[in-house]
Amino acid sequence: MTHVSDLIQSLSPSATLAMSQKSNELKAQGVDVINLSVGEPDFNTPDHIKEAAHRAIDENYSLYTPVPGYMSLRQAISRKLREENGVDYAPEQIVVGNGAKQELCNVILASINPGDEVIIPTPAWVSYVEMVKLARGTNVLVPTTLEDDFKITPERLEAAITPRTRMVLLCSPSNPTGSVYTHDELEAIANVLARYPEIIVLSDEIYEHINFTGEFTSMASFPQIADRVVVINGVSKAYAMTGWRIGYCAAPLWLAKAVTKLQGQYTSGSSSIAQKAAEAAYNGPQDCVREMNEAFLRRRDLVVEMARQIPGLECNVPQGAFYLFPRVTNFLGKSDGERTINTSGELALYLLEKAHVATVDGAAFCLDGYIRLSYANSDENLREAMRRIGKALGELH
Ligand code: PMP
Ligand code: GLU
Repeated sequence: MTHVSDLIQSLSPSATLAMSQKSNELKAQGVDVINLSVGEPDFNTPDHIKEAAHRAIDENYSLYTPVPGYMSLRQAISRKLREENGVDYAPEQIVVGNGAKQELCNVILASINPGDEVIIPTPAWVSYVEMVKLARGTNVLVPTTLEDDFKITPERLEAAITPRTRMVLLCSPSNPTGSVYTHDELEAIANVLARYPEIIVLSDEIYEHINFTGEFTSMASFPQIADRVVVINGVSKAYAMTGWRIGYCAAPLWLAKAVTKLQGQYTSGSSSIAQKAAEAAYNGPQDCVREMNEAFLRRRDLVVEMARQIPGLECNVPQGAFYLFPRVTNFLGKSDGERTINTSGELALYLLEKAHVATVDGAAFCLDGYIRLSYANSDENLREAMRRIGKALGELH
């Protein structure tokens, strides 16, 4: 007998984590799998950050932490937001938690009532729609495609707004597409949202520093909406710290308080050691961030060039994050002689089994007919993975 609640039964498991797990299992069996599924920097956490964690242990940072995070860390984040992004959030408006993921979910749970509508331009990161389901909100998906560079226009956004709209969720640079909205594109969106003061703007800026445009604009920098923009960010991507689990929300005070109340009953403050490491990340030298960005740019160029040489694979040139999101519809309905590939999900499985390259089905990001490749991997692995993908796709007729 099982007693899994209806709510949890209604959730889909995380496809990114599931595919990565599957690829690790194959690897453990001795299969030479190249894992381009989960998106996480393949670099080591910079030394000065690791040293700060050692120090925190030696200095006995071992007690429960304040629920919203150490004041010193929130001060560092507040300064970062002001100096790097030109936006004002006092430390009291910042809540630190177990990764950006927890803070996204907290913000949604703390502000969405059953039936409230949340507008999500798609393709979108796998967890957004599931978090909205957890809050029993209603997902309103606004699809984009390769031809739009996967960007929502102000007109399409406005057309999706109804009296029940409570939140708009934006992510730039985008996971899974790598698209980066320009300042002017974001301003046009902000101008629409300015007319709807009851809408919270949840801006996931976790890929801020993995950006090849040389320009990053925070949604909170538009004064016409700033008082209801929630910024989500963290150390996972910028400082290669995915496993340390530190992220934050910067929110209107009423929402930061509600998030703190939720977190206080649910997980408490996040790890003391990881917080001290994150503080060193924000207060220390930033060369590591630039160096990693340069490596991602080189890999972006490599992967795009190799993808373009594969007949039938269609892709944009991602401007940020570390994902390529090619359209694979040209391969659907084709067969390698043994099986016919009908969906992008079947194609992702085919690539795993035949080419031993793990990718993620676009359907997990709410767009069928595409797959996602993470190029946060070594140049050598990327070359080999793209060669294998090209060969396996070439065998479909
Ligand atoms: N938002 C997006 C778009 C992401 O890709 C990720 C990575 N998993 C997160 C949020 C969560 O990041 P983390 O919890 O590691 O800080
Ligand atoms: N952001 C990464 C990804 O999309 C991490 C995995 C996850 O949390 O979904 O692959």
